[in-house]
Amino acid sequence: MYCSAECRQAAWEQYHRLLCLGSSHQDPDHPLNKLQDAWRSMHYPPETSSIMIMAKMVASIKQAQDKERWQRLFSHFCSRSANEEEEIVHKLLGEKFQGQLSLLRNLFSTALYEDRLSQWFTPEGFRSLFALVGTNGQGIGTSSLSQWVHACDALELPGQQREQLDAFIDQLYKDIDKETGDFLNCEGSGLFLLQSSCNHSCVPNAEASFPDNNFLLHLNALSDIGPGEEICISYLDVCQRERSRHSRHKILRENYLFVCSCQKCMSQVQEADMTSEEEEEEEEEGEAEGDDMEDEMTDV
Ligand SMILES: [Zn+2]
Ligand SMILES: [Zn+2]
Repeated sequence: MYCSAECRQAAWEQYHRLLCLGSSHQDPDHPLNKLQDAWRSMHYPPETSSIMIMAKMVASIKQAQDKERWQRLFSHFCSRSANEEEEIVHKLLGEKFQGQLSLLRNLFSTALYEDRLSQWFTPEGFRSLFALVGTNGQGIGTSSLSQWVHACDALELPGQQREQLDAFIDQLYKDIDKETGDFLNCEGSGLFLLQSSCNHSCVPNAEASFPDNNFLLHLNALSDIGPGEEICISYLDVCQRERSRHSRHKILRENYLFVCSCQKCMSQVQEADMTSEEEEEEEEEGEAEGDDMEDEMTDV
């Protein structure tokens, strides 16, 4: 689904020509459907975007006239799956995910293999492609519908037309709710070269947002930033940031391969290695369902 004809055309020209399922949309045996089904089974919807970002990377290069340019572009993103100096390895290298990764790699190769990119299809290369998307992928959430409703609210209309429009919108929300539940937003993820070069802090001074309701990323200051001061975003969401230093470090280590030494972490260095209450609760819930939430592949 695209937000405009221009969007659809741009996608077609960049990668969609190769990824278009056309009449095979519902065909469970189509290699791309098999890949997405496998991914969905190890990952809860609607966050199905990571595997498709990888597919789009391959397709963008295959489709491009200037393939070198795209390859150079992607090579700027950090894709290491281990940090030797700190002796940290990405959680993807754990035994737990080896079976899933090799299944995905087989399906990915069947659907998209390209000689020029053979390095991405080896076990090691596929892992680093995963690490690239996992460490650099930025979630994008937009809501075209609510933007349209805001625009309607702003219209100056004579009384009767206003009533009609409001009634129409009320009914529209009810109908959508019946069909889809209350999930009305578009979710995806993207790779942004400049933003992905920002380091992390548990007390960030900037944050990414998508105020234009498209993929244009804005980086907003959260406090005054002086000349020469580093711009830091947070790789943790708001809830994760409230967790103990120990819990934050676990997430950052396993997904981003570093030990945080931001102001907040340094000021808490004396605290005992406590797991925050919230995380304990989550772990208990997870165990009760026989499902280890912490180790789900949510961050890749
Ligand atoms: Zn299509
Ligand atoms: Zn920190």
